[in-house]
Amino acid sequence: MISDQGQDKHSKFIFITGGVLSSLGKGIASSSLGLLLKQRGFTVTMMKFDPYINVDPGTMNPFQHGEVYVTDDGAETDLDLGHYERFLNQSLKRKNNTTAGQVYYEVITKERKGHYLGKTVQVIPHITDEIKRRFRTFDGQFDFILIEIGGTVGDIESLPFLEAQRQLWLELGSNNVLNIHLTYVPYIKSAGEMKTKPTQHSVKALMEFGIKPDILLCRCEQKLGKEMRTKIALFCNVHEDAVIEALDVESTIYEVPLLYAKSNLEELVLKKLEMPSKELEIDTWRNFVNRIRHPKHEITVGLVGKYTKYRDSYKSILEAFVHAGSINNTKVKVELRNSEDITEDNIQAQMEGLDGILVGPGFGNRGIDGKIISINYVRENKIPFFGICLGLQCAVIEFARNLCNMPEAHSSEFLVNDFNVIDLMDEQKKIKDKGGTMRLGAYPCNLITGTNAYKAYNTSEISERHRHRYEINNHFRPVLEKSGMTFSGISPDGKLVEIIELKNHPWFVGVQFHPELKSRAVTGHPLFIGFIKSILKNKKLIG
Ligand code: GLN
Repeated sequence: MISDQGQDKHSKFIFITGGVLSSLGKGIASSSLGLLLKQRGFTVTMMKFDPYINVDPGTMNPFQHGEVYVTDDGAETDLDLGHYERFLNQSLKRKNNTTAGQVYYEVITKERKGHYLGKTVQVIPHITDEIKRRFRTFDGQFDFILIEIGGTVGDIESLPFLEAQRQLWLELGSNNVLNIHLTYVPYIKSAGEMKTKPTQHSVKALMEFGIKPDILLCRCEQKLGKEMRTKIALFCNVHEDAVIEALDVESTIYEVPLLYAKSNLEELVLKKLEMPSKELEIDTWRNFVNRIRHPKHEITVGLVGKYTKYRDSYKSILEAFVHAGSINNTKVKVELRNSEDITEDNIQAQMEGLDGILVGPGFGNRGIDGKIISINYVRENKIPFFGICLGLQCAVIEFARNLCNMPEAHSSEFLVNDFNVIDLMDEQKKIKDKGGTMRLGAYPCNLITGTNAYKAYNTSEISERHRHRYEINNHFRPVLEKSGMTFSGISPDGKLVEIIELKNHPWFVGVQFHPELKSRAVTGHPLFIGFIKSILKNKKLIG
């Protein structure tokens, strides 16, 4: 299906830029189109180009940039890659995410090595050539390559990306490169009408860089209507049928592909890129969305962590609850609890109304006590518990302090002493640099039969993604085990504990990895599904 141009196989490129303002949901819009093309029987991959200078978002604060998403091959990437994977049900690679920092780093490194033979190294052509090279990383391997350009058109930072996009369009032609622009048509209450001016300006900015949008995706709170579409088409120089309404969805982002399908978005894309039309298989997705919209049960889970001011810091966890909730016909309300506010005195009130808690990932000392107090509470009160990464580490500390007679038990991330039940791996002890120094990416793990983990996965060999420096200290394994802790997941060489759990409890499971990163729409993640099931059972909502 990949287009044949001369001898080489080429992919069709679809660029998605954003206008007017940020947070319009470019990642969701791109993922939705990717899904529709895939469900039409084409092969698709998606890439994100981020304009910031950081080499990767690994060292960025989650408060600023949301969660860091990790791929199987260990890249720390933008959280939009999470959307792509969840929608496409496809694992992406390091090369699916590029930052301006990587591009400049590459060019400057080459310059230092004398690669440019004395030439003046410039944004055009050197930076743009490097960007184009990266655009084409997967050229020929997929029918479609969707490329989302981060930021908003008009930002100084994203200029080289737009210039490279323009050049690629010129080189490959309009039947091989499609420009989609996501914009916003606000409803102004005082005027009682929708306004197209911001869209006009945004398209004008895009045209100044030589990019003519082929399709406008117009985010709006109210229906666009024929008149508005005609006006936008006229002023923005696009065909009326290419002005697509992207109405706000009521219940879930997973509805967006269904809306686009109704507007025939992917049909239009296929026509413009001269690709054959194939039948759209969307029933499975529609059923998934229907289960989200019409749940049978409702439960409330507390997500305990310190990044509670910005929900995007826990993006994948929140999405994993939607997926696994849908499988269980359950709406999972997730209430964020700031662990810094949790004390011995208010723990009861803090846990009020929660059917289960998840203690989330994190770095640094702040909020640790609140996490340990929460875990102690749910362990003793037999409330379902799920610990992820730092969540597992805190569970081990709590267990050692209260059940192994080690009141000083701690992680050496927070306090170095003789009772570091959580400690650095020997290889990590030598590393001083920040950034890229963690155990990152997918690692295999063997499950012990009969455990909750085994029952959830229903298999004994799994692979999950990691992002951490510290591990359970093997020195303390015997005493933890003797006091009743089960190590239900172990690395194949037996050296690392990956999953812990407790018996005589409805569900007390901690994992060293990040299961949320492999939760996909429609299918969900076994551990999230198991956790929700245990809550439903605990509440006697299911048998
Ligand atoms: N800070 C802990 C570590 O580095 C946990 C990291 C995490 O929760 N992802 O091991």
